Amino acid sequence: MRTYFFKNPWWLAKFYLKATFSIPGSEGIYLTFDDGPNEIVTPWVLDQLKKYNAKATFFLIGKMAEKNPELVSQIISEGHSIGGHTHHHTSGWQLTNEAYYKEIEEGLSVIPKTKLFRPPYGQIRLNQLTQLTKKGIKTVMWSHLSGDFDEKVNREASLEVLKSAETGSILVFHDSQKAFENLTYILPRVLDHFSTLRLPFKALPQV
Ligand SMILES: [Zn+2]
Repeated sequence: MRTYFFKNPWWLAKFYLKATFSIPGSEGIYLTFDDGPNEIVTPWVLDQLKKYNAKATFFLIGKMAEKNPELVSQIISEGHSIGGHTHHHTSGWQLTNEAYYKEIEEGLSVIPKTKLFRPPYGQIRLNQLTQLTKKGIKTVMWSHLSGDFDEKVNREASLEVLKSAETGSILVFHDSQKAFENLTYILPRVLDHFSTLRLPFKALPQV
């Protein structure tokens, strides 16, 4: 049984007031890619985005960025924005606060300057979120989850949820090996759907 939501319930954003779940008032759709850069999947994603003149945001794992610095440069030079995703993909629930901040800072230290951050698994304690905000870090969650990381996901159901996104929605995908097969099905269809509706795909502003 799934233990995650495709579409976040309305009360979650109320609970985590200091995190970003959507961009109200925006005219664009925000595609985000977590867990890269991956030497096979990320170039494929960049190609897909280019075909649709789509901009997106990549939340990079520090360890992966260290292995693939040329992909980090390519992401930026093609007009996308980047954020941190910790150095080793660690949950905020499993570390002391100090250890968690160290993980985040280490991850941010190996990529070009950014204040955007997405907590792995979306797992972050409220006091961690408050502390990160004080440090000037902008924590970005999402409104729609593709479920591409789940090998058993019902792709059609996932697609239907993603298609229900509206302007200002933030969608999550993964440029990881594990998600690649689902991604090759889901992403082109999402790009096609919103392009047909003439909605632009925007990168989260790089701060
Ligand atoms: Zn992740």
